[in-house]
Amino acid sequence: MPDSAARSAATRVLSNVRPWGGAPADILIRDGHIIGIRPYDGLSAIDIDGAGLLALPGFINAHAHVDKSWWGQPWVSYGGQATTEGRIAHEREHRERLGIPGVEVTLAVLRESLRTGTTAIRTHVDVDLGIGVRGIEVVREGLAQLGGAIDAQIVAFPQDGVLRRPGVVELLDLAAREGADYIGGLDPAGIDRDPVGQLDALFGIAENRGVGIDIHLHDAGELGAFQMELIADRARRTGLAGRVNVAHGFAIGEVAASRRAEIIAQFAEAGVSMTTVAPVRPAPLPLRALRDAGVPVGLGTDGIRDLWTPYGTGDMLDLARLLAQVSGFRYDEELREAIEIGTSEGRSFVGRTQHGLAEGARADIVLVDAENPQDALMRAPERSLVMAAGRVVVRDGQILI
Ligand SMILES: [Zn+2]
Repeated sequence: MPDSAARSAATRVLSNVRPWGGAPADILIRDGHIIGIRPYDGLSAIDIDGAGLLALPGFINAHAHVDKSWWGQPWVSYGGQATTEGRIAHEREHRERLGIPGVEVTLAVLRESLRTGTTAIRTHVDVDLGIGVRGIEVVREGLAQLGGAIDAQIVAFPQDGVLRRPGVVELLDLAAREGADYIGGLDPAGIDRDPVGQLDALFGIAENRGVGIDIHLHDAGELGAFQMELIADRARRTGLAGRVNVAHGFAIGEVAASRRAEIIAQFAEAGVSMTTVAPVRPAPLPLRALRDAGVPVGLGTDGIRDLWTPYGTGDMLDLARLLAQVSGFRYDEELREAIEIGTSEGRSFVGRTQHGLAEGARADIVLVDAENPQDALMRAPERSLVMAAGRVVVRDGQILI
């Protein structure tokens, strides 16, 4: 076979789709990547018929906990106290009987995520004195069983605190040495009651091992804002710009406008990003101000149906609608932006320089029967087709792998 024929045989055509609601197009795919997009003319060879459906990029879940969901198991009633400490204790008490951490539970929530179009995830994975770093191995095994359909970055996450549990710093260091992409933190003041100590320990490991940092920060008001300054200061001094993230960061939506502007400027300058889970009760993140300042904002599910919360389905399109709703979005460009935050704009949170319906991107594509992105956002229709790295993994809402 001549070279040109071999090359064309390796190219697949996803035909007659409407990228972001635009004109019908054919998407050319080779070796798991998009190699071109051309107008649909109805004349070319078709490998996969897109039937005129709306095409969106695969969803990026920038903040998940895929190691500890009980998705797919009989209902688990929440029995702990409704505080952070109460949730930690409840989880420690019951996780083992639910098979957490385990490949089976991880696969259940990964498969459900893929079924609704999520093709890349940054997941926190619990690391603590009870289970050590075993959860990370479990998550890696679950991901491997999906053959790379979901590509993931792993945050070694000290859910039970860092300094207050002697030995956890060493576990985080071990996780970083063994290939975790990030190490996590948790309310350096609220949980460890030693913000400088926890942050210095985390940044020390990150600098030493060449990993990033992704910190859960629920601490409210000025206490949270103060820790954001400590984080920005360390990001600047350690050269970790672009690899430090604050998850939740409710405080930034709570402090006075002038204080908020100071923190946003510090984050922009120090290369600190933020992730939100579009919470209903706390003050929403100041999305517009953050994005205008160039601070990357990622969207994530947080835990899905786990020992912390009965909520969550893993459907990023549902979550993008919630983000739009809590942000007061109404105009078409805002509604589209909510989807962009859950797709192409989430790229840096999963280690990608490119993600979207464009030449060079991994062929992660979601087709839905919707008029345009805004319509898809409001209805979150069934995923007619999900392609991950060029492989069709979902058809008509059913997972194929
Ligand atoms: Zn979380």
